[in-house]
This record gives sequence, C-alpha cells and structure tokens, in this order.
Amino acid sequence: MADRATDKGQKPFLRIHNISKHFAEVRAVDEVSLDIQQGEFFCLLGGSGSGKSTLLRMIAGLETATSGHIEIEGQDVTNVPPWSRPVNMMFQSYALFPHMNVEKNIAYGLKQDNWPKEEMDARVQELLDLVQLGEYGKRKPNQLSGGQRQRVALARALARKPKVLLLDEPLSALDKKLREETQRQLVAIQKEIGTTFIMVTHDQEEAMSIATRIGVMDRAKLIQVEAPREMYERPANKMIAGFIGQVNLFEGKVSRKGNTQIITSVDTGGTLEVSEKIALADGQVIWVAVRPERILLKTKPKGRAAKAINKANGKLTDIMYLGGITHIQVTLDSEHPVRITISEHWDGDEAKLKLGDAVEISFEKRAARLLVS
Ligand code: ADP
Ligand code: MG
Repeated sequence: MADRATDKGQKPFLRIHNISKHFAEVRAVDEVSLDIQQGEFFCLLGGSGSGKSTLLRMIAGLETATSGHIEIEGQDVTNVPPWSRPVNMMFQSYALFPHMNVEKNIAYGLKQDNWPKEEMDARVQELLDLVQLGEYGKRKPNQLSGGQRQRVALARALARKPKVLLLDEPLSALDKKLREETQRQLVAIQKEIGTTFIMVTHDQEEAMSIATRIGVMDRAKLIQVEAPREMYERPANKMIAGFIGQVNLFEGKVSRKGNTQIITSVDTGGTLEVSEKIALADGQVIWVAVRPERILLKTKPKGRAAKAINKANGKLTDIMYLGGITHIQVTLDSEHPVRITISEHWDGDEAKLKLGDAVEISFEKRAARLLVS
C-alpha cells in the first residue's frame, strides 16, 4: 500500500472532478466534485430523483458524463468503457441467473475471463465462505432466502476483485429485520476485503449505520460530505438537518439593539443565541436547529421568563414511552411544535407527565446550530 501511495503522489483513490450529466433539459447531476479514499464505505444519500444513481452509473461507466472527469488511482477513466474499469456494480438479487446454481452464478464473470478451472473453483469457494454460504453452492437461487440471494449477488460482483464496488440501493427489497442483518454482514465483508464500496441509499439510518462518510445529494448537487457523526452534529442546511435524524428548527430574524445584533424568534417568543460566530446581516432570516435529545424540559415553570434566551413556554401535547427513552411533543404558545427526547437520566418524574401540562423548554447555546439556508 505504502509504495502505491508514493507512486501516485498521494492522490485520492477515486477523484470525481466537476462532473455533470444532462438528459436533454434535465440536469441529473450538476457539477459534482468528490474524492474517495481507498477502503472507504461511502454512502450517497438523497431523496428520489436527486441524481444518486446517475452519479454511480457515471463512476461505473454505464453513463457518459456531459462534462467533468473521473480518475481512479490517478488514471483518467472518463472515456474508459465500463468493462475496462477496475469497478463493478452490484445489482439487486433478482438479476441472478435462475437456471444456474449459486456456484455458476458466482463463477459467471470468471468463466468469461477464461480463468483456469482450478483457480476458478478456489475463488468461488473463497467467495462462498466470505458471504457465509459455504454449503449452498449447488442450490438454485429460488432455493434461497432473499438475504442469501443478495449475498450471492454480492459474491458474484466481487468475483473479479474490482477495486471499487458500486451498490445501488441493494437492500431496498428486503424487509426491515433482514435489511439490518444484511447491513451488518455487508460492513463485515467490506472490512475483511478492504475494497472501496460506494453505496446509494435513500435511507438515512442505513447510511448512518454503514458509512465511513456520507455524501448528501439534493436536486443534482452534492450538498455536504461528512462522516455520520459530524453530519449529525453539523448539518450544512435545514434539509440535511431534517434528513439526518430529527431536528427542531426555530426561525429567527436578525435585528439590532443598540450596537448588538440579536436574533428574535416568533417561534419561541424570545431571543435565540448560539455559540458559533457567523456574520449575519440585519434583517436576515435564519434558523436555529436543536436535536430532540438536546432540549431541556422543565415541568411546573414559575411563570414566564421575561427576555427569555433560548427558552419558551408551552404545553405537553404528546407523550410516547418507548422503554429506555420517551418522545414528547410540546406545543409552544406560538403554536410551534417541539419534539423532545428524554432518557431515564432526566431529573423529572416521567410517570407524572400529563397531556396539557404547562412546561418550559430551553436549550444551551452549544446545543444549538445556526443555519442560514
Ligand atoms: P436517484 O437515483 O437519486 O433517484 P436518478 O439519478 O435516477 O436519481 O435521476 C436523476 C434525474 O435524472 C431524475 O430527474 C431522472 O428522472 C433523470 N434521469 C435519470 N436517468 C434518465 C434517463 N436515462 N433519461 C432521462 N432522464 C433521466
Ligand atoms: Mg436511484
């Protein structure tokens, strides 16, 4: 690995440079740049139609870029046909050949490459073991469960040792329990072989639990690229804040009081303060984002705080006990709804919470993130 890195002058493993794809008047992908390192499990996350599959298909070479270029290990592959790229795409399990057994499905590409029989058999066995289907080589796809078929599709896609494996919503056909199990297996397999995986998903929980880094796409643009935790802590805008987990947004307007800028909020009926220092214009509308678990809840508030900072009054409008945690909704006096998650560490008495109770919510400056779009 070390010599390879020096050979290529430490260039990123996969470099996507200012790539666009237009279908007639539709901009499917709009000037996306992205570097991916060797060994990453990268997730492209976004709503339907945001351009994820088109970007993936351009990496695979299945779609020609309108402009921009793609490099793999320092080599420009923009005009290299798909079969000559060190890349493979995993299709959903229904793309398996139904008349061929598992071994033959996995060996398909190796056979086309004229691998010697012994080497081919050894490779197939290695792959069967990797996806924990050692005993299932002779079965036909219809004699397997959905999860097992998915693992055969994975083994087949990995057979020729691609340097990058592309996966387009590979688990979307599986039910929730099986999907979670398959996610774990996928992560374990990726770790074991160290191949770079790039997976498309519209499921933020899936991306959060699998990815080394997530790239969020919205309307053909790549909006933010970040590791899951950082994405959750520092979303770039309202869309991402709401997409990655749950969030409360308090709208604020920047105004001036003497020499100081303040943010007043119709949602809280007071002012908002955050610890970040961001230059704002007088009159600008902003949003303060606070995660449900960072909102502090106080029952039996003593009247209404004058000049309240990051604080508001309201009443309890929903309580949902979920064992270890409780989801609560408070409707503020402004009618603005606030979601709160309290854990067993809460210092109040959960059992005494009643719908309609008057409460006070607040949050610390450092729990709040300022968003300008
Ligand atoms: P996603 O995978 O995020 O759901 P896609 O990459 O499939 O999004 O599509 C992005 C946009 O490009 C959509 O508006 C889609 O309709 C359009 N698009 C994708 N493929 C084609 C195509 N072959 N011809 C015309 N428009 C396309
Ligand atoms: Mg898609």
